[in-house]
Amino acid sequence: MALFIKDIDYLPMTGSPQLKRGSIRIEGRRITAVGAISPQWGDEVIYGHDKLALPGFVNGHCHAAMTMLRGFGEGLPLREWLSRVQPAEAALREEDIYWASLLAQMEMMKAGVTCYADMYFSEECSLWALEESGIRAVLANGLVDDDGRGEGRLRAMLQWADHYRDDGRGLVSFALAPHAVYSCSEPFLRDIAFEARKRQLPLHIHIAETAAEQESCAAAHGRRVLPYLRDIGFLDGRVFAAHMIHLDEEEMDIAAEKDVRVVHCPQSNMKLASGVLPYRSLRRRGVTVGLGTDGAASNNDLDMLEETRCASLLQKVASGDAAALPPGEALAMATREGAKALFLDDQIGTIEPGKLADITILSLWRPHFYPRNDVNDVMSHVVYGAKNGDVHTVIINGSVRVRAGKCVDIDESRVYHEIQKRAAGFWRRV
Ligand SMILES: [Zn+2]
Repeated sequence: MALFIKDIDYLPMTGSPQLKRGSIRIEGRRITAVGAISPQWGDEVIYGHDKLALPGFVNGHCHAAMTMLRGFGEGLPLREWLSRVQPAEAALREEDIYWASLLAQMEMMKAGVTCYADMYFSEECSLWALEESGIRAVLANGLVDDDGRGEGRLRAMLQWADHYRDDGRGLVSFALAPHAVYSCSEPFLRDIAFEARKRQLPLHIHIAETAAEQESCAAAHGRRVLPYLRDIGFLDGRVFAAHMIHLDEEEMDIAAEKDVRVVHCPQSNMKLASGVLPYRSLRRRGVTVGLGTDGAASNNDLDMLEETRCASLLQKVASGDAAALPPGEALAMATREGAKALFLDDQIGTIEPGKLADITILSLWRPHFYPRNDVNDVMSHVVYGAKNGDVHTVIINGSVRVRAGKCVDIDESRVYHEIQKRAAGFWRRV
């Protein structure tokens, strides 16, 4: 059966953001027609009255199972925060990671996210959760070798990625994810980059999140992070990097030259007082910038509408320019540019024929969406006013996964019950 979204306002995000009105036809996993088209016999029809369709949000950097640590380690900067969080994470069991990942996937889908890139340990558990939720994901076990066991982790990840390469639905893809330059040795980073190139997997890493990271890299390797990664060949692959805050001019040139794609996580950066992304300087050089939530422990939620709003507001307040990062650009970061950051822009990120059908529909039947017309711009309403509770329908890979704000395939009450139970056991072990 085909899905037909009838007479809806939509933002295709194909070029400069422009509100259009028409219908959207979905057959199988793909969008097959958009615009002035009619339903056919057998179509399931979603009526577009008082609704707005956007490409599904792409959360480009997450640690999904960190939902279990939501609200823990408040008031600490990154290094101290990590020194509290990482020992606690050692007490997580696989079943905890499964339920925490399912909670995260549910939270994201209910907030209009259709695809996320994850970095955690035991990502097999995320995959099991994903088989239930039906969200799209780029999965990667976070790789560190500060305990001398990095090679084993890399081999296990490669074996797993090779084994699951095709999940039959095209929802899952893989990346290799060295955690950061301060938690991975040079030979280990070279090895990971070599394997990624050989298998054509992207590399997902944290870069330049803090000034301390730059100082420790200069002390250990005699160079700042980007020149160091370039010199060891790490940037010769397809790299998407979370944060990229503390960069000098040369590093931004390197990012542009090597096509390093950036995932900006404004709420996490504000909460851990990490700093402000040099957005304008990166974009002036043509660097791709998407958006991510980071883990729930440094956010505290996985809400891309909030990230979109914060990205725009943060650039305005930091630059003193009210015109900085306008709403259309912020929405592009959450959709098309986010897909590009993950090297998935040939598949998702826009509403147009041929693309996979990942679509988020907001209900506009809310006070904060009125009035709307040529002057009272709906894009401004979405970026500065929309809440995750406005998400009405979410379509992923051509299937309705959220209907009237509720997950279709997940027993939501069971997830709340299980996560409460698991959290109690987890904190007793920490
Ligand atoms: Zn992170």
